Amino acid sequence: MENIQQRVNELHDLLNQYSYEYYVQDNPSVPDSEYDKLLRELIDIEEAHPEYKTADSPTVRVGGEAQSSFEKVDHDTPMLSLGNAFNEEELRRFDARIREQIGQVEYMCELKIDGLAVSLKYVDGRFVQGLTRGNGTTGEDITENLRTIHAIPLKIKEPLNFEVRGEAYMPRSSFMALNEEKEKNEEQPFANPRNAAAGSLRQLDPKLAAKRKLSVFLYSVNDFTDFEATTQSGALDELDRLGFKTNHERERVADIEGVLEYIKKWTEQRENLPYDIDGIVIKVNDLEQQDEMGYTQKSPRWAIAYKFPAEEVITKLQDIELSIGRTGVVTPTAILDPVRVAGTTVSRASLHNEDLIKERDIRIGDSVVVKKAGDIIPEVVRSVIDRRPEDAVPYHMPTHCPSCGHELVRIEGEVALRCINPQCQAQLVEGLIHFVSRQAMNIDGLGTKIIQQLYHNHLIKDVADIFYLTKDDLLPLERMGAKKVDNLLNAIEMSKSNSLEHLLFGLGIRHLGAKASQVLAEKYETMDRLLEVTEEELVSIHDIGDKLAQSVVTYLENEDIKELIEKLKHKNVNMKYKGVKSSEIEGHPDFKDKTIVLTGKLQQMTRKEATAWLEMQGAKVTSSVTKSTDIVIAGEDAGSKLTKAEKFGTTVWTEDQFVAKQNEISG
Ligand SMILES: [Zn+2]
Repeated sequence: MENIQQRVNELHDLLNQYSYEYYVQDNPSVPDSEYDKLLRELIDIEEAHPEYKTADSPTVRVGGEAQSSFEKVDHDTPMLSLGNAFNEEELRRFDARIREQIGQVEYMCELKIDGLAVSLKYVDGRFVQGLTRGNGTTGEDITENLRTIHAIPLKIKEPLNFEVRGEAYMPRSSFMALNEEKEKNEEQPFANPRNAAAGSLRQLDPKLAAKRKLSVFLYSVNDFTDFEATTQSGALDELDRLGFKTNHERERVADIEGVLEYIKKWTEQRENLPYDIDGIVIKVNDLEQQDEMGYTQKSPRWAIAYKFPAEEVITKLQDIELSIGRTGVVTPTAILDPVRVAGTTVSRASLHNEDLIKERDIRIGDSVVVKKAGDIIPEVVRSVIDRRPEDAVPYHMPTHCPSCGHELVRIEGEVALRCINPQCQAQLVEGLIHFVSRQAMNIDGLGTKIIQQLYHNHLIKDVADIFYLTKDDLLPLERMGAKKVDNLLNAIEMSKSNSLEHLLFGLGIRHLGAKASQVLAEKYETMDRLLEVTEEELVSIHDIGDKLAQSVVTYLENEDIKELIEKLKHKNVNMKYKGVKSSEIEGHPDFKDKTIVLTGKLQQMTRKEATAWLEMQGAKVTSSVTKSTDIVIAGEDAGSKLTKAEKFGTTVWTEDQFVAKQNEISG
């Protein structure tokens, strides 16, 4: 046993050392494969002898079990925010106040990292708890996620007790790779590295956080008692010595002129950094002088954060592209020479409508000023008239639909131009995209690109065609493996059981939103009854106005629509409202009145989909395993619920067994 303990200690030391060399010093002494090999050895030992697994074992870097929520925890000392300065004048005023109170001081300038503020608690030199700033007094316990950041030492060189504060961030390279992957999966990309870092640290599965390649810079401690330091710069050197990662672009300067020079330098050079910064932090360097200055209610008097101005950049407007929405609205989009604005590369910006283009006299070929509204959505602010090319002409919206050639109309009282051709291709594709979207039929994996592919390959013309797709249709498509096809067909199959309101909303009836769809489905319960409803009846319902009533009746009276509904029925797409008591559900005897628990990660469907399907079969889906649980369906990485099920002798199914059962029932 002693031998095992000895080896475990050795492995801890080596793995910690390699993490430190790689992630803090940026100077690895061994190849990645060596780290992986030793980590594997430690994981194997811990699996065979769980008593050797400790909370600070380097194996926590891969991420522990998912949590259901974050606990709220008070900070030992509050995490204050800093006062802000937005220009030179405000900085000079800050300096004048300090000199008035304590005379000439030396300043410490540091980059203000654009990430998520965190506080890390060390007890006896071991990392035991990590919190978000929260409201400054109370933060959220995100320890498990923070442990996956290699730059955070699990154990430091001395057995100290204190909280160290800093900023967790996502390097630009990790951010680009993450968004590339998201785009490949047709998921919404993150707007900037800060959102990506915050999103990664505030999600409940540490294994996901581990994949996000976050880092950290530490910059202060809550209690300097055990520190030799007498200055902020000394404290940072001390953090370095203990094994923490600090930012080395910091500089000590003699006075406010030095501060301004430092700001000028980084305003120019910030784009060359491998991470985003949003300003400069200036602190009185001497800790005793800091004490003398003290605090206001909200922030220290001895420090200030200079914020970079909202960034505006100039680029060239290459073209104006038009897109046609589901309801025929034509939206102009600016196509720009790619340019970096506030942390991301921008190549498109919405121009909203014709009026806006006219009002700002924006012309193709112009140099335009671009900024981000709310720091997120790119916007064309204005054209730079002095730089306008001689041949630039005022922009006019086309008179005919760029997709189908039908004449565009401007409906009275609206700013938008519309294509009113019901056969317009662009609108049909947008309608299909709407049909599979989250609030409608919610068919996972059927994103915009696949819908476009299917449409252009003549595999789907209307929404019902989606349910007629076969393996043979899908397999020849670009970037479609067998696994992806199976998942997609499965998701389509699952969506057939959606309650009526999803189908109603998905059909894209003008003016009929998700909420009104719910109202109608609940009131009429079946599509057949809805098909017979009159305008007078509809108007009598609270929440349904004249315009909507007319639109619904006109839509459902249409012979083409009646045919479409028959076509959907033929494939057993559900036409009933399901918000009913489970006793009224017919359901399959294998599931009806059974209590079922889902656990672990499902690969072929979301939990929500599985729950919806089970409920349709009359099952009760609950979250915890008890003696009265009938079946536990266990996906990947199922944890304590599975252990409990085994203890109670509950029937356990794998996801594959569950899917097989579904296929058997759905035929
Ligand atoms: Zn059109």
